[in-house]
Formats: sequence, structure tokens, C-alpha cells
Amino acid sequence: MDFDRLTGGLFRRVGEALDGLGSGLFENSVRLGVTGLSRAGKTVFITSLVANLLERGRMPQLRAAAEGRIQAAYLQPQPDHTIPRFAYEDHLAALTAAEPHWPESTRSISTLRLSMRVAPTGLLTGWSGPRVVHLDIVDYPGEWLLDLPLMNQEFRDWSRDAIAAARAPARAPHAGAFLALLDATDASRPLDEPTARTLAGAFTAYLAAARAAGLSSVAPGRFLMPGDLEGSPALTFSPLVRPEVRDATSLWRAFDRRFAAYKRVVIDPFFRNHFARLDRQVVLMDALGAIHDGPRAVEDLRSAMAEILACFRPGERSWLAPILGRRIDRILFAATKADHLHHAQHGRLAAVAEALVKDARARALFSGAETRALSIASLRATVEDTVTRNGRAVDVVRGRSLDTGEEVALFPGDLPDDPAAILAPARHGSADWTDTAYRVTRFAPPKLLGTGEGLPHIRLDRAAEFLIGDRLA
Ligand code: GDP
Repeated sequence: MDFDRLTGGLFRRVGEALDGLGSGLFENSVRLGVTGLSRAGKTVFITSLVANLLERGRMPQLRAAAEGRIQAAYLQPQPDHTIPRFAYEDHLAALTAAEPHWPESTRSISTLRLSMRVAPTGLLTGWSGPRVVHLDIVDYPGEWLLDLPLMNQEFRDWSRDAIAAARAPARAPHAGAFLALLDATDASRPLDEPTARTLAGAFTAYLAAARAAGLSSVAPGRFLMPGDLEGSPALTFSPLVRPEVRDATSLWRAFDRRFAAYKRVVIDPFFRNHFARLDRQVVLMDALGAIHDGPRAVEDLRSAMAEILACFRPGERSWLAPILGRRIDRILFAATKADHLHHAQHGRLAAVAEALVKDARARALFSGAETRALSIASLRATVEDTVTRNGRAVDVVRGRSLDTGEEVALFPGDLPDDPAAILAPARHGSADWTDTAYRVTRFAPPKLLGTGEGLPHIRLDRAAEFLIGDRLA
């Protein structure tokens, strides 16, 4: 098959169609952070956003695109040589293959520069020529933002809180092995490396099991998303029960030093070098996945979001406040994978997203950032249909099941009109939804017929307009 035709030129690179670019044109850049907990949909979001900015046939709500003012768009070498490049071509190749598959998810930080030549609008037309806008997209795990509170904690306080959390009802079932190991550990004894590794391994396994069960608060963030630090001493520690005697060679003191190193070499540089330099931010949430996992997962997602969003508005005495350079002035909260629902329910999903971040959003507004909540699908994997069940018309979505490869029709359950019906049982600690079951099927990516107009999506153009539309005006 003709690869170029199939992908419609979405792989276009520097230099093509760009005669005269870069010579004396006015340039500016906008740094867009893309985050969310693992599996929230960051990789698919960025891949589809870039594909749809390169080919703008499906972006009517992005004004500059609809008005034909984006004269050219192209990928450029990124200005920052120390961070890996977002593997756009690999991810797009996965989605546009003859047998499409979902790309590999975000495991670390990466970045990509997309540059656009944009014609001026309104009054400026005729006065000035086109200019170049560089969009620097920074992809990073939301788990890393959960580390911020650790900066204000000592090992002693963190240990106490982390052990209490592991013993809480929602988590204890996943923490059994770690807690048993902790009980059998005397932290006043000298450090030996195999014990350190076993403890760190059991603690990480507990965090991973909690995450797999849909729980979101899993700090320290690098334990599940180590990036290139896997196996390093800065990640080889765990919370401990504080012993009476703690001399310099004890396990306690060794882990205390490693905890301090984690703050110094992991958390500090990330916030200073990357987070503090963002202009705009999109926070992706798999709200549907959490609803499917039950009230505890929803409450956990809510509290993780509150922690994540606290980073955008640190208190004045926070360690972060003085290093935040330019302030993020727009934050989008997007509930992803809306293609699992019939459009009749999209508004309700957006309302759930909005309710999930309500408190935190009020704080962001207070700091002057504009915020919005949307439900989106970065890559639409389904079509809508109405079927008759027991004489009643039911709105469903159809797609190819990822597990069986068969086409399936899904009615995932009605979301309530009032998001409080989801949030309240979650807040009160219910273990299950009382009257409804929500189902989620993982769909395979759609087989795309050579389009040349970008990837199919839901409201990605609105998301883009909110995030960068003003910079293209
Ligand atoms: P990341 O961990 O945040 O980078 O998440 P990914 O972007 O890798 O997405 C995780 C998984 O969610 C994918 O493998 C898909 O199964 C699913 N997914 C993400 N975006 C969409 C979407 O727009 N529609 C559908 N149906 N599934 C999606």
C-alpha cells in the first residue's frame, strides 16, 4: 500500500513547502504541557493533535485553521537537546498501520516542536506579513506532579503518612505483602542492599497493584514511572517504621538520605527545568475508566487531581512558588475517550470532569488562569448507532473490540444528569454503585482509509482553540 497516500503526508518534515520561511519572519513560541495519569490518553492526544495540525481538514473549531490562516505547518528539531523527542512518527505509524494498534504509552518526559506559519488576522491584515508560531509540546507523566507535596516533607513524616495510607481500607488489600515485610523489618539494623531492594520492590509492587485497581494517588511518582532512573539508589527506598535507635549506618538513616536525594535529583530538577517553563497545560483524565472501576477509584482520581492541580497554584510559602517563572495562563481539563459514549451523553461526561476538578479549579481561577472542562476523543474509534432492546430505542456506539477483534455494540450505562450522583457516593466511601453498572470495552483503533485530512476525533479542535487559538490570532 502507498504509505504516503495512506498517511496523507502527515509525516511531513522540515523544509517541505516552506520556501522563504525563517528569513526575517516574526517568531514566537508557546510551551504546551500535556499531562495526566498513566493511560489517561497523553500519547494518543499528542499524536492526533500534531497530525491534525499538519493536515487541518478536521479542525473547523480551530479558528485560524477554519479561516485558512495557517499557511504551513511542519515539525522542527526541538530547541532543548537534553530531553528525548516525542516519537510522533512511530506512534502515528502504529495508528495508521494496515492493522492499526494503539501506540506505546508515555513513560517519561519527551518533547516535540511543531511550527506554523500564520497569516495575521483582522486589522493587522495588510499591515504585517505572516509570522511563525512554534508550538513546543511537552509530554510528561501526571504521576510526577504528585511528588510536589514531598518537597515539604521529611522522611519521618512521609513514612508515617505513606504507611497509614497503605493500611487504609481501599489500599490494604494491595499492600499486604509490603506491610508484612515492613513488620518483619528492623530499621535500626545496618543497611544491606538486598533488603533495601526487597523493600523498594514490595513497595513499588503495592503501588502498581493499587494503580491497576484504578487508584490514582501513587507517590512517589518515579516508582511507577522511573524514566531513566530505574534501579538507581534514589529510587531504592520505601517508607519505614521509625525505630528508637537510628545511628548513621542504620537502614532508617540510609533511606532518609535516599529520600532527600530523591527530592534533590528527581523532583527539584523536573519542576525547575520543565514544569516552571510551561505557558499552557492540558490535564487529561480517564474519568470513564475510573467510573467503571467504581466509587473508590473516582474518589481517588478526584484527590489525585486536587494534588496535581495544587502545583498550578502553589501557596506563597511553597517551595515551588519562587521558581515558577512564567505563569500558566490557560488550563484545560479534558475527559478522554468520549467515543465510548453516544454524543447524547458527552455533556454529562464533561460535567463529571468539571466536578472532579471543581475545588482545584477555583484555586487556578484565583491565580488568574483561565480554565475549561471538555469531553474529547483524540482518536475516534467508534460510530454511533441506535438499536432496539425490549421495544425501547437504545443509543449505542459500535467499534472493534480490542480483545476479540470482533465488531461490538456498547451501551456503557447512562451517566447521571447531575454529576453529584457519581461524586457523592465516591466521597462517602461506597464500595460499589448502587443502581447502575458502567461498562467499558477497550476498542481497537479504527482502520483509517487514506484520508489526507488528519485523524478522526471528537472536539480536539475545540481543545486546540482553547489552548493555542489566541496565539494564532
Ligand atoms: P498515556 O499513558 O497517557 O500516554 O495513554 P495513551 O495515550 O497511551 O492511551 C492509553 C490507552 O487509552 C490507549 O492504548 C487506548 O486504548 C486508549 N485511548 C486513548 N485515547 C483514546 C481515544 O481517543 N479513544 C479510544 N477509544 N481509546 C483511547
